[in-house]
Amino acid sequence: MRLLVIEDNRDILANVADYLAAQGHIVDCAENGPGGLHLALTEAYDLIVLDIGLPGMDGYAVCARLRDAGSSIPIIMLTARDALDDRLHGLKSGADDYLVKPFALSELAARIDAVLRRSGGHSRQLRVSDLVLDLGTLQAERSGQALKLNPTCLKILELLMRKSPATVRREALETALWGDAPPSSDSLRSHMHLLRQIVDKPFPQPLVHTMHGIGYRLAKVDHGA
Ligand code: CA
Repeated sequence: MRLLVIEDNRDILANVADYLAAQGHIVDCAENGPGGLHLALTEAYDLIVLDIGLPGMDGYAVCARLRDAGSSIPIIMLTARDALDDRLHGLKSGADDYLVKPFALSELAARIDAVLRRSGGHSRQLRVSDLVLDLGTLQAERSGQALKLNPTCLKILELLMRKSPATVRREALETALWGDAPPSSDSLRSHMHLLRQIVDKPFPQPLVHTMHGIGYRLAKVDHGA
């Protein structure tokens, strides 16, 4: 699994990262809130271990920003605080679990396994904001309305939702859809146009975004930000 650990205490960060790497995970690290948020929004991780007291932006804010952007990535919060209010605040800002410092590394590993198992149980469904794709029935819906998508658009939607809120490169989409032989250079563009007509046009807030010269991303974007 690919994990992101956001923690400003370098000793704890090194211990946690080394331990998780030794367990076979790929681990990226960040030492402050904005840096961690940037990585979480631009890279694809399976889970985030997130400290609450962080320079720049605290863990609650990082978590809330990720959820606002439509990310459903599992998050385990770490904190020295064990007051009920902090725990509730953490869960309310969108964390999946909560671990109070000091903790045993084996306890963290067990929580990570449990949260990943739980989210794996839910991963029959992908969700970005009010858009839901059921991977069992391949039915997509937005705000409770069923969306009728052809197989190519469905596949594009699944790829974008899996990586959301990160950008998926145009070449990666083309390879996933057509291997080494895309039908024409405009095929992806016309499928994206069709996808937007169905997924975005009937709704007030667009979720599909063009990253010019790079590719596409699917996310709820706060235009004030
Ligand atoms: Ca801290």
